[in-house]
Amino acid sequence: MTRQVVVLGAGIVGTAIAEQLSRRPGCAVTVVDQRGPDTLPGSTGHAPGFVGILSDEPTLVELALASVEIYQKLQSGFDPLGAVELATSPTGAERLAARAEAAVAAGIPAILIDPADAAALAPRMVPHQGIEAALHLPWDGAAHAKVITAALAERAAAAGARFVFGNPVTAIEIRGERIVGVQVGDEQLQADDVVIACGIWGPAVSALAGVDLPLVPVVHAYIYSAAHAATRQPSPLIRWPEHNVYTRDDGTRYGLGTSNHAPLIAHDLTHRAELPWPGGDLDDAVTAALNLLPAEHRWSPNEHLGGVLSITPDKAPLLGPLGQLDGLWSAEAIWVTHAAGAAKALVAQMFGEPSTIASLAPARFAGSSPEALRRQATARYRA
Ligand SMILES: Cc1cc2nc3c(=O)[nH]c(=O)nc-3n(C[C@H](O)[C@H](O)[C@H](O)COP(=O)(O)OP(=O)(O)OC[C@H]3O[C@@H](n4cnc5c(N)ncnc54)[C@H](O)[C@@H]3O)c2cc1C
Repeated sequence: MTRQVVVLGAGIVGTAIAEQLSRRPGCAVTVVDQRGPDTLPGSTGHAPGFVGILSDEPTLVELALASVEIYQKLQSGFDPLGAVELATSPTGAERLAARAEAAVAAGIPAILIDPADAAALAPRMVPHQGIEAALHLPWDGAAHAKVITAALAERAAAAGARFVFGNPVTAIEIRGERIVGVQVGDEQLQADDVVIACGIWGPAVSALAGVDLPLVPVVHAYIYSAAHAATRQPSPLIRWPEHNVYTRDDGTRYGLGTSNHAPLIAHDLTHRAELPWPGGDLDDAVTAALNLLPAEHRWSPNEHLGGVLSITPDKAPLLGPLGQLDGLWSAEAIWVTHAAGAAKALVAQMFGEPSTIASLAPARFAGSSPEALRRQATARYRA
C-alpha cells in the first residue's frame, strides 16, 4: 500500500526531507508551502550559510558531517573554505584548546595555530595584535542554502514528489490518535504522515494539531558591507566565540553576524523571516563586533538584516515524533549546517530503521511547562 507523506514547509529542511522520501519505494510525497515556487522568504533565504561542524552534541556533529557530504555532491552547494576561531583572552584560549581536543576525539581535524598564521589566512579580518590563540578547522565551510534547496527540490520532483505552493496549511486532520490529512486552500490532502518543517512558523502549525513546540523565533543581527571594487577569493570563515561574532568575505562583500545582544523575540511574524532593523542594542552589538576587525580593514554596514531564526531550550533541533499522535513528525529548529543530514536521519526513523537521533526528539522536553521552556530557550540565544 502506498504511504502518503505530506511535508509542511519547503525551506531547506522540508525540501531535503522530500528528496529523501522520494527515494523510498511505495511513498507518495506532497510538499506544501505558502510561499511561491521562486522565492525563499523563510530563514533559508536569509542564511549566509556558515557551516561549523564541531559541536558539544555528538549527534549534531554526525548530522553536520552527513549534510556536508550531501552538499558537496551538489554543484556549487558547498565551499570548503575552512574556519578560524580566535581567542582574545586566556580563558578564551583555554576554551579553544578544549575544542581542539574535542574535535580530534570526534575525528574532525582541528589545529591550534599561531595567531600570525591565522592573520596570514585572512589578513583583512584577523588583527595582528590582541589574539591569544587561534584554532583552524579545515573541514568547515560555506553552504549555499538557496542552491542546495533548488537542487534538492528538482531531484525530489524528478522522483515524483508533488510541490503545492501558494497556500498555507490551515488544518491538520486527526482521527482518534492518528493523523489522517491536512487542509490546504480548497484542497484536502490525505496523509499517513505529516512532517512539520515550517521553521519559525512551526509553533503556529503544530498548534493546528494541538501540540506545543518549544521554539522561539528571535531576531538575529547580520550585516553586509558594500560590494568590493573587484571580486576576490572567498576567505575562510572567522569566528570570535567569546564575543559571539562571526564574519566572512564571500569574495564579493563582507558579512558579519553577532548574537551579542539581548534576545529579541519576533512576536509579529509576517511571511518573511525578517523584521525591520530594530537599531538600539543590535546597533551596539554590530559596532562592538566591527571593532574586533583590524583597524585598517574596518568597514561600515551597507545593509542590515534583522533575520529571524529559531531557538530551543537547549539550542538543539526538535527532530522526531511529535506529541502523542501517530504520524506526526517534527523537523524544526534545524540549521542549514544540519539540514540534509537531519532529513536523512528523520526519514530513516520514519521507516523504522534504528534511530540515530533519539537525543533530539521533542519528547525530551515533556513535563515542562511551555512558558518555562520558552523562557529557557530565549535565555539560550546568546549562550
Ligand atoms: C540571519 C540568519 C543567519 C543565519 N545564519 C546561518 C548560518 O550561517 N548557518 C546555518 O547553518 N544556519 C543559519 N541560519 C539558520 C538557518 O537559516 C535556518 O535554521 C534554516 O534555514 C531553517 O530552514 P527551514 O527549512 O526549517 O525553515 P525556512 O527556510 O524558514 O522554511 C520554512 C517554510 O515553511 C513555510 N511555511 C510556514 N508556515 C506555513 C504554513 N502554515 N503552511 C505552509 N507553509 C508554511 C514557509 O513559507 C517557509 O518556506 C541563519 C538564519 C538567519 C535568519
